[in-house]
Amino acid sequence: MAKNSAMKIWRDGHLVNWDDANIHILSHVVHYGSSVFEGVRAYETPSGGAIFRAREHARRLLDSCKIYRMPFPYSADDVVQAMVDTVAANDMKECYIRPLVIRTGQSMGVGGSDIPIETFVIPWKAGPYLGHESTTTGVHVRVSSWRRPAPDTTPTLAKAGGNYLSSQLTKMEAKVDEYAEGIMLDSFGFVSEGSGMNIFAVRDGCLYTTPLSAGILQGITRDSVMVMAKDLGIDVREQVLLREFLYTADELFFCGTAVEVTPICSVDRIEVGDGKPGPISLKIQKQYLGIARGKIPDTHRWLTHVPELAVAGR
Ligand code: PMP
Repeated sequence: MAKNSAMKIWRDGHLVNWDDANIHILSHVVHYGSSVFEGVRAYETPSGGAIFRAREHARRLLDSCKIYRMPFPYSADDVVQAMVDTVAANDMKECYIRPLVIRTGQSMGVGGSDIPIETFVIPWKAGPYLGHESTTTGVHVRVSSWRRPAPDTTPTLAKAGGNYLSSQLTKMEAKVDEYAEGIMLDSFGFVSEGSGMNIFAVRDGCLYTTPLSAGILQGITRDSVMVMAKDLGIDVREQVLLREFLYTADELFFCGTAVEVTPICSVDRIEVGDGKPGPISLKIQKQYLGIARGKIPDTHRWLTHVPELAVAGR
């Protein structure tokens, strides 16, 4: 992450200096992981910076707060405006945006409902998540030995900090074994998702992705892929997938805000298809980046344009 002390962070309605966006060591979140957050991208388009699916990310943040009984004081529109102001204030056309809600009240008790929360929006410069060439050459992955949480353990529809403990283990295990990523199975042994991304398979021209019941985060890019596939006349099936389906698929790709659309070339050192990014993966990738970068018409109104100097006077 490119730390940049010159940048501003949005903190409950104010744009504060990067180095002033601090919290106390006794904050509830530090001890009990009581955070919910979003990962959003802004892209440079011919008419300036634009945030991709800002409203859907804002809504999911509100959903996560609701699940964790956090009395979030803002509307989805307020969150969108906070993201716009943050991007504009930092004069960044293309960046990653991290809205974050945390229990910063000081408490040593586990229960959190009466602990004060604070909201931040943090911007930073970000390139391809899995490395420089990953989106064009594809990546090599393994099936993780760590599973996604079982239903009624921790809520997977919430994008909560605590959910990323098993993601960290998955990612570190993959890196130690020289893979770019890990794919987690669910508690029943069916395919779930990557450490921070959803997964699609292609077989005989049809797209397959894992259902919410497989303990996935309901990805916004996943939804975009499903909508774009429909627009392109490609069938999509949301269904339980067996691990071995990963090996026999014609193509596989990850999707997510950070990873965008990244082809997968092998799983557990078994080549997927011919071991190269496949045509449907590349078609979806092209469509996604085309819409995000304003080169393909935004028929679904996915872009929120960031007006230049939007924060003057704020
Ligand atoms: N699954 C997990 C565990 C994630 O962290 C993410 C990234 N937010 C995704 C899936 C993809 O979600 P989205 O497309 O909304 O970024």
